[in-house]
Amino acid sequence: MQIVFAASEAAPFAKTGGLADVVDALSRQIANLGHQVTVFLPLYASVRPLLDKEFNYAVRSITIPFPHGNRFAGIVDGGSRQNVRYYFVDCPEFFDRQGFYGNNGDSYTDNAERFGLFSRAVLEATKILGVPDLFHVHDWQAALLPTLLRTVYSADPLLKNAASVLTIHNAAYQGWFPPATVEQLLLPWEIFTYDKLEQYNTFNFLKGGIVYSDLITTVSPKYAQEIQTAEYGNGLEGALRERIADLRGILNGVDYTEWDPATDGNLAAHYNPLDLSGKRDCRKDLLHAFGLDVSAETPVIGICSRFASQKGFDLLEQIAGRLAERDVAVVALGTGEPHYERFFRDFAFANAARFSVQIRYDYAMAHKIEAGADIFLMPSRFEPCGLNQIYSMKYGTIPVVHATGGLDDTVEEWDPAHDTGVGFKFPEYNAQSLLNAIDRALSAFYDKPQWRKLMENAMAKNFSWESPAAEYVAAYEQAARKRL
Ligand code: ADP
Repeated sequence: MQIVFAASEAAPFAKTGGLADVVDALSRQIANLGHQVTVFLPLYASVRPLLDKEFNYAVRSITIPFPHGNRFAGIVDGGSRQNVRYYFVDCPEFFDRQGFYGNNGDSYTDNAERFGLFSRAVLEATKILGVPDLFHVHDWQAALLPTLLRTVYSADPLLKNAASVLTIHNAAYQGWFPPATVEQLLLPWEIFTYDKLEQYNTFNFLKGGIVYSDLITTVSPKYAQEIQTAEYGNGLEGALRERIADLRGILNGVDYTEWDPATDGNLAAHYNPLDLSGKRDCRKDLLHAFGLDVSAETPVIGICSRFASQKGFDLLEQIAGRLAERDVAVVALGTGEPHYERFFRDFAFANAARFSVQIRYDYAMAHKIEAGADIFLMPSRFEPCGLNQIYSMKYGTIPVVHATGGLDDTVEEWDPAHDTGVGFKFPEYNAQSLLNAIDRALSAFYDKPQWRKLMENAMAKNFSWESPAAEYVAAYEQAARKRL
């Protein structure tokens, strides 16, 4: 099949979170299966240094109409990465900015126009470069594409048979805009009804994707269930339940060429399940990088995350004092909401001998944490899939997680009676439940044979992309059949 991915992030060009890892790895995996895959991304400021100085334009100028005049976008050919072709939508007034979605926590006020233009530009570009059998769009930023396809482009002889699949990587981000967005993006008012894009008098990009895509996937089976409830659906549960027959939960894979302690180029030493000695060096290296010096008997808890309210650090805040009474070290890497950045800074300042934080984005340090920590903490309030806990298992770093979404699907609770399980889960989202799970992990840590078995179990887990990629292809085929 010919498949076009439209997304706002893909590693290594643009990344704030797991979406970027998935678009990168999944596109390559689908291409490996013999399909022709093209990825379209906005040409952000951060992409420029990664491209040739002289842009190689596949299309010099595409006209995108707006109510008060046209805008023009070029399509820059980014070449091929492992059989996946990359094109970048070049519209400097919209994308040549430092942030992808905003600055210092504030969203850009023209995001509807920016990502509206992006979707239209992808459709227009494929009319010149080749219309695929299927558009695979990711999250709200690309979710207007299926809406355009089935409304203003529905009679287009080139596009009318193209199918679309929407993947929801996080239903908490939907792209809400004022009703006037309908006119701003030259869309028909008919779509502004509750069974289409309107939601509580806002224009909702993601809802449009849910209504108009041929098939909808999300990134774990449990999250596919959860988003049909009011607690996790964020207002879209009704629209999702309407499409229940076309909704699939496909667990994300991970790319073990990037995330494997036996080969990871970011580590002080390599190790594998048969020879774990290198993990000790990684631990030393990590503690050094965070300016800590604790005994080998002190377990190191690692955190690497966006500091967003989704990630459950409000619970950590509530147990910070009691955690400090225990013999543990904590290293945390992340950026995000000012409240949580402040909390982590204060937490580290108050316990400087054992707790340390780095408020930044650092790719290599993320790998060092996976390898050098003993325990990986992910207390997320909700988690569509979560990649870090999957990476951590491969590194023999035992996850402690809230039993939600993909965390629940991937982490099996340690059962010392049967030597089964890979980590520790807390079922209720509250501070005591989290502390209990940490305490269970700490007792297991002090029992060396038990901990060794846990590490073996975790490292033996395989979450590679082969099986999820096959599920995506099956979903593509099913979606394409709807357009025959
Ligand atoms: P989400 O997509 O919600 O942010 P995931 O666990 O799915 O959560 O993916 C997070 C990805 O982002 C992982 O690859 C993780 O290593 C990376 N990451 C998050 N914060 C940082 C940071 N501060 N520095 C480096 N990598 C980070």
